[in-house]
Amino acid sequence: MSEKNCFSKLNIGRVTSSSCNMAGAKKNSLPQALHKVIMVGSGGVGKSALTLQFMYDEFVEDYEPTKADSYRKKVVLDAEEVQIDILDTAGQEDYAAIRDNYFRSGEGFLCVFSITEEDSFQATQEFREQILRVKNDEHIPFLLVGNKADLTDRRKVSAEEAQQRANQWGVPYVETSAKTRANVDKVFFDLMREIRSRKLEDTKTTNGKGKDPGKRIKIKCSIL
Ligand code: GDP
Ligand code: MG
Repeated sequence: MSEKNCFSKLNIGRVTSSSCNMAGAKKNSLPQALHKVIMVGSGGVGKSALTLQFMYDEFVEDYEPTKADSYRKKVVLDAEEVQIDILDTAGQEDYAAIRDNYFRSGEGFLCVFSITEEDSFQATQEFREQILRVKNDEHIPFLLVGNKADLTDRRKVSAEEAQQRANQWGVPYVETSAKTRANVDKVFFDLMREIRSRKLEDTKTTNGKGKDPGKRIKIKCSIL
């Protein structure tokens, strides 16, 4: 089952800025990489279904819509064992302070809409803006995800339209189905790769000193 982690401390009534013990790594041992992913999007688009499909290889049809939860899983990312933390949000983000805390703790975002629901596509614009405002970083690892791709006869948002928005934002667009599992691993792994390369870039650009993206200084590095 899922292992509780620092995200769990951000539930309503327990808002705290306490920091996370990095994957429970022992002192003096090299910490295993931990990539923190946040699921955002309107209610009913399939955030929980995608998360549970990725975690447990199951399509859950009736997951409690108001339940936010966090999950942790060990995965092998390009031959490296890493951990992924997934925070599956569920509406509490209407409270600005809680939402901002959630977003601040994330290193990468899956911004989900349903291809069967135009409103959910429009809502992605606002999620994107909120994330950029909180993270203050235009290059934050981020994927636009069009879920319920199996429901082709109920499609209301064209792939072209969604791709256009993703191009404007400079992010990838991927269509998924939590029901058939199409592209489910892909969105989580692609996002982890973005997070990983972003962390690598951060250590190169700042030499580990400070993380303010506004103050990022590029240093040329010829060693790959
Ligand atoms: P959330 O509110 O964003 O977490 O949405 P849920 O994961 O609870 O999903 C809402 C409803 O849509 C549930 O009945 C799911 O079974 C259904 N659903 C989610 N993803 C898919 C999908 O890819 N295909 C189909 N056909 N139904 C889906
Ligand atoms: Mg949910």
